[in-house]
Amino acid sequence: MDCGVPFCHWACPLGNKQPEWQDKLYKGKWREAFQILDRTCDFPEFTGRICPALCEKSCVLKLSCDEPVTIRENEAAIVEAAFREGYIQPVQPVRNGKRVAVIGSGPAGLTVANQLNRKGYEVTVFEKYELPGGLLRFGIPNFKLGKNIIDRRIRLMKQDGICFKVNTLVGSDISAKEITSTFDAVCIAIGSEVPRDLPIEGRNLKGVHFALELLSQQNRLLEGISIPAKNIISCKGEKVLVIGGGDTGSDCVRTANRQGAASVTQIEIMPKPPIGNNPATPWPMYPQVLKTNSSHEEGCIRR
Ligand SMILES: Cc1cc2nc3c(=O)[nH]c(=O)nc-3n(C[C@H](O)[C@H](O)[C@H](O)COP(=O)(O)OP(=O)(O)OC[C@H]3O[C@@H](n4cnc5c(N)ncnc54)[C@H](O)[C@@H]3O)c2cc1C
Ligand code: SF4
Repeated sequence: MDCGVPFCHWACPLGNKQPEWQDKLYKGKWREAFQILDRTCDFPEFTGRICPALCEKSCVLKLSCDEPVTIRENEAAIVEAAFREGYIQPVQPVRNGKRVAVIGSGPAGLTVANQLNRKGYEVTVFEKYELPGGLLRFGIPNFKLGKNIIDRRIRLMKQDGICFKVNTLVGSDISAKEITSTFDAVCIAIGSEVPRDLPIEGRNLKGVHFALELLSQQNRLLEGISIPAKNIISCKGEKVLVIGGGDTGSDCVRTANRQGAASVTQIEIMPKPPIGNNPATPWPMYPQVLKTNSSHEEGCIRR
């Protein structure tokens, strides 16, 4: 912890105080490290695993010699220690008599619910799908985020007093009128569900799918949720083409490989980024080009 002027905290969208909690970690003060982290981050067990780690891209050691501190892993280590050592316990807020409905249980809805519950509001989260978590649950593949990590947090949030109503589509299973007449305030955190289409010849052919049709189905299958055989999308034995070289494209490459695809090809309109610590591709420029990550080492032709 000798970086002079740190930049990592400047890059974190949550305002995490990495220089402070890493200093505690370095000195072996795990509880204090967690207390600092907990002030700014509701779910370090998620961000410590799947955040793109903007902090590491602006770490002094990244900028100077392309060897950043493993800040994201440190975050995950601190919160896992906190769970293991019992630093994280259910809260018992003093209730203020106000009721809030949160529509949508993705990370946005969960964060709102967590914050308001801690302030004493009585919070009910409505989710149209079978289980809470939003895209954490039915988008991000299990090899990136194990769903036991979400389950552990949801259990804790229930013990904290938050009520989850799943399989409840607001606007159909429960009307907006009922929601507004039952609750003092409503937070709409329903994400963005409209995929970007590619309306070109052949778009409607059999076997052409949006990424999330494949990924959400795979997560459901792994969750033990049954899908009618006629609706199953399987890459087994198929020659798979992934259009798009970003993170979601990588998730599709890895999922296709795990399903036993005969081959996987990924194409991207943008150029390949230069290798290494090139100042021409600082964050956030590099996600706009063909990204290389471990998914490609698992087997993929890339153009
Ligand atoms: C394949 C994939 C991989 C990703 N990987 C990463 C990653 O590695 N790292 C990262 O930081 N980000 C990643 N992301 C992005 C991240 O998942 C999203 O930015 C994040 O989940 C958005 O959170 P949200 O709460 O706004 O919305 P969502 O997660 O979409 O949650 C919205 C929730 O609202 C529910 N809902 C919608 N309408 C209603 C209604 N009327 N009634 C009740 N419920 C409703 C939906 O069912 C859903 O559960 C990834 C996204 C995808 C698709
Ligand atoms: S991993 Fe993400 S959430 Fe965690 S400190 Fe870095 S930028 Fe912030």
